[in-house]
Amino acid sequence: MSNNAPLTPESPRGSLLLVGFGPGSEEHLTHRAKWAIEHAEIIIGYRTYIDLVRPLIQNKTIIQTGMTEEIERASQAVDLAFSGKTVALVSSGDVGIYGMAGLAYEVLADRGYTGTEIDVEVIPGVTALSACASILGAPLMHDFASISLSDLLTPWEVIRKRLRAAAEADFVIALYNPKSSKRVRQIEEAREIMMEVRDHDTPVGIVKSAMREGENIVISNLSEMLTHPIGMLTTILVGNSQTRIIAGKMVTPRGYQKKYNIHTGDRLTKSKTL
Ligand code: SAH
Repeated sequence: MSNNAPLTPESPRGSLLLVGFGPGSEEHLTHRAKWAIEHAEIIIGYRTYIDLVRPLIQNKTIIQTGMTEEIERASQAVDLAFSGKTVALVSSGDVGIYGMAGLAYEVLADRGYTGTEIDVEVIPGVTALSACASILGAPLMHDFASISLSDLLTPWEVIRKRLRAAAEADFVIALYNPKSSKRVRQIEEAREIMMEVRDHDTPVGIVKSAMREGENIVISNLSEMLTHPIGMLTTILVGNSQTRIIAGKMVTPRGYQKKYNIHTGDRLTKSKTL
């Protein structure tokens, strides 16, 4: 197979489906993602992710790779699509959020893709922060920042800067990739930065393996968060100055109580015109 051969009218038109399959359970997979996995001739993904969608895959070519082989995975997917195949490149959560969609476009650019040679569709999924937020209660009701603590591709200094800015601006903060067996220091430093500007009893939600086997949920606070297990499959949500615990759940008020009596629904003050 020649990778960059122009498609002839006889050849089937290739398509590249970039699929986010959500946190893991089939109930949280979108219809379109399910359609894509069923419709594709070839499924490509990280081994663990393929295992999560395996029940949906029958009579298809499966290409599984290890975690550090992202470029190879994206290249294979693009080249197979250019050869006329329908290929699904799968990521957990949302494929466009710390997933494979961007890298796939970079590889497409490298192959000279102009937007017409094959069909490309990005299919969104329920990302970890929204899966975890729903389990914890309603912590993302106000402005939030999402920060990955992985410094494999981003310099740690840049990450520190973002953490500080988000903490100072009172964003709720979602931390992806908080810790791995080799990366243990980042979450400690992140906590130190947040402790400098936020109350030490600010609620912190720690969710491992949301909506898949092994799910574990902890609601803690900034001072004690590190006493709980945190790993590769954990997402952490740090509340803002208003976040509080209601019936064991983590909730960030939107601000209704400042304007309305929640009991009667009556407006407390006249609203300003925008
Ligand atoms: N594209 C994915 C993110 C991949 S980055 C998404 O949109 O969710 C990998 C990180 O995502 C993990 O380190 C963890 O922080 C988070 N993550 C992915 N799946 C998760 C799950 N089921 N529960 C908790 N965190 C998860």
